[in-house]
Amino acid sequence: MGDDLAQLRVRAAELADLHGVTGLLHWDQHTTMPPAGGATRAERLATLDAVTHARLTDPALGRLLDALEPRLRDEDPDSNDVRLARRLRRDHEKAVRIPAELSAELTRAASLGQEAWLDAHQAGDFGRFRDALERQVELRHRYVALFGEAEHPYDVLLDDYEPGMRTAEVVPVLAELRDGLVPLVQATAGPDEEPRNAGVFAGPWDVATQRHAVLDVLGAIGYDPDAWRLDPAPHPFAMGMGPGDTRITTRYDEHDFGMALYSVLHEFGHGLYDARHAPELARTTLDAPASLAVHESQSRMWENLVGRGRPFCVWVLPRLRETLGGGLPPGLDADGLFRAVNAVSRSLIRVEADETTYNLHVVLRFELELALIDGTLAVDDLPAAWNARMLSDLGVEVADDREGVLQDIHWGMGAIGYFATYTLGNLVAAQLWRRLRADVPDLDAAIETGDFAPLREWLGEHVHRHGRKFDTRELLARVTGEGLSPQPFLGYLRAKLKDTGALPPGA
Ligand code: ZN
Repeated sequence: MGDDLAQLRVRAAELADLHGVTGLLHWDQHTTMPPAGGATRAERLATLDAVTHARLTDPALGRLLDALEPRLRDEDPDSNDVRLARRLRRDHEKAVRIPAELSAELTRAASLGQEAWLDAHQAGDFGRFRDALERQVELRHRYVALFGEAEHPYDVLLDDYEPGMRTAEVVPVLAELRDGLVPLVQATAGPDEEPRNAGVFAGPWDVATQRHAVLDVLGAIGYDPDAWRLDPAPHPFAMGMGPGDTRITTRYDEHDFGMALYSVLHEFGHGLYDARHAPELARTTLDAPASLAVHESQSRMWENLVGRGRPFCVWVLPRLRETLGGGLPPGLDADGLFRAVNAVSRSLIRVEADETTYNLHVVLRFELELALIDGTLAVDDLPAAWNARMLSDLGVEVADDREGVLQDIHWGMGAIGYFATYTLGNLVAAQLWRRLRADVPDLDAAIETGDFAPLREWLGEHVHRHGRKFDTRELLARVTGEGLSPQPFLGYLRAKLKDTGALPPGA
């Protein structure tokens, strides 16, 4: 067994390295690559994908896993070796089901779909996108058919982003969440869209000043300049390259410092997760996120539960007054900042939505894409269905498709099954947060004085170090003893909206 295990570890290390190189090429493409490099980069990435796919589908890997299986049966089921074998088996078995021809087709459709989306988005004309979207739906059906035993066709799509999660689990959870959120938005939002964060970050501030201010905040919460980088990018993201190399990005808006501040907190949460998998998991492929929902739970926790919390506002305001060198409203105090960054506003655009309305945008997308996949909604009827839901859930009229059904790139890329993970991440964050607050009773006092170590340590111990050893459901059960539920999130939100004064105390 020693030899077989050693061989498995060598193969895992190669796969982990290939993923790392692929990540590095993507990071470079979205931060520093000259625009004309796109075509060459696409070829490099396609070759690297093919090499990775060949390693993963190698029949010798399957034989190795078969040989190890009976012998690992007697080991601790939570040991790194058992988990490594289980995860690699899953990766291998999924990859071998996909014929090379379909895989190439999916890649091509993703690229064409993005182009069609870009064109339709610019023109605000859904008609220019409908064929590409229909093609994506057809291809998903062909993909789903490869996994004939699934309970629901959408399970197969969801599983690519949220391993092991089933449609039947997610549907009632998100419906319960929507039913809790719709009246909450009605009770707390004004009739019209309002400036983000109630306009307190309107500035203006130049990029250098904003970078200085966000690096100061990052340094205090756990960013290590020897192991991290911060670069500008049009669509902020984070990427962990392995131990000692964590890269985050942000966007600077001269008239909204909140953009840089909250995107930096968000990406810091992703980066911290990537950076703190247990050292013994390095180069095993277990040094990866459990799922997109768990990844997003970490980013949203720092952005919202921490960054939009009262203790953080108390701590950060005097610091920002110093680092931004003026420009914040003179009379603004910590209470005012807390109320401003939690203001509820009806919004058309998901990525600009506040914490209270955000998940309604996601649930709407989830339910519409589910209907596209199970055949109860035709592509041609999508814009009208979208607009009707925006009105019933958020109370806003969609005047044109650019600000409606065409606002996100995901469906054009074929990322169907992805949206739900944003909201699942918010729910997981609230469930973890409740446990964290019970375990660390003086958390608020620590944050108020700028001591973020207890928070980082708790997350490291309960979430970060495990990498992808456990899936979302297992992780939640281990940490909180619960299954997925929208109630901790709804309870947290109601309490906060009472604290800001948006909801009356007895509501
Ligand atoms: Zn994120």
